[in-house]
Amino acid sequence: MARILVASRNVKKLAELRRVLDGAGVSGLELLSLADVPSYDEAPETGATFEENALAKARDGFAATGIPCVADDSGLSVAALNGMPGVLSARWSGVHGDDEANYRLLLAQLADVPDERRGAAFVSACALVGGAGETVVRGEWPGAIARAPRGAGGFGYDPIFIPEGSSRSAAELSPAEKDAASHRGRALTLLVPALRALA
Ligand code: IMP
Repeated sequence: MARILVASRNVKKLAELRRVLDGAGVSGLELLSLADVPSYDEAPETGATFEENALAKARDGFAATGIPCVADDSGLSVAALNGMPGVLSARWSGVHGDDEANYRLLLAQLADVPDERRGAAFVSACALVGGAGETVVRGEWPGAIARAPRGAGGFGYDPIFIPEGSSRSAAELSPAEKDAASHRGRALTLLVPALRALA
């Protein structure tokens, strides 16, 4: 069975890729996480775009292990902020991974922005790097930034993101609803043909 390294320690990301592959009828791929391979130096994410970061992570994983590697980078892109926080989403408030501080700062920055200019999108770039070459894809989940946080599910900016066509925030969706619509699901689905070629 062909092996794929998923450059993440997050079991949810592995499970999500497994669901996408199963849904597309792709069998014959064993998914490994970073916990399953000898550790190697992981370069900091310094790219200017989601695509650059995803590609750099996938190249590192393949170079270190010789196993074809999938990596992703994601974040929130707000039109009124010219696409920011973008690749800086995880550290927008200055502290890496403080989700509530990050979305509260964003809400404060947009306090005077009227409803019709609160458009945003979650973005995910996914890269596959292996002996056969490199593939990079991008999935987007369009929506708008709410005026106040709502909901207890999800993570990151979910409480302040209202997906297009929804009256609930992303943090008020069930995991299955979010999966079916999200940027990461869309990007992984676009990666299926390249993964199928390895199976
Ligand atoms: P990454 O782990 O480097 O890809 O950074 C992703 C950051 O973007 C997270 O820390 C979140 O702040 C934000 N983000 C990405 N995807 C989502 C999502 O589905 N919901 C909420 N926030 C997200």
